[in-house]
Amino acid sequence: MNVYRAAAGHVRLLLAVTALGVVVTIAFERQFGHSVIPFVATSILLIVLNFRMGRFMCPRCGSNLFLRKGWAWPWPNKVCSQCGLDLEKP
Ligand SMILES: [Zn+2]
Repeated sequence: MNVYRAAAGHVRLLLAVTALGVVVTIAFERQFGHSVIPFVATSILLIVLNFRMGRFMCPRCGSNLFLRKGWAWPWPNKVCSQCGLDLEKP
């Protein structure tokens, strides 16, 4: 698996956890009237999962795939913003 696909998979995982967290939080609110516990659990899980973001680096120059000119973006680069390497190729 190349680094771009791994990074895109990471974003999809975060989106899935967010969607699941919303559903569980709403279900808890309707069932028990308290939604704080699933909301906090989802938030902590997302923060912990996001530590993986630092692993997605360009194999040639080490630039993070989520950074473009110093700004963090929600979707990874297909082409390295520093050295121009095609990150989609295996
Ligand atoms: Zn690079």
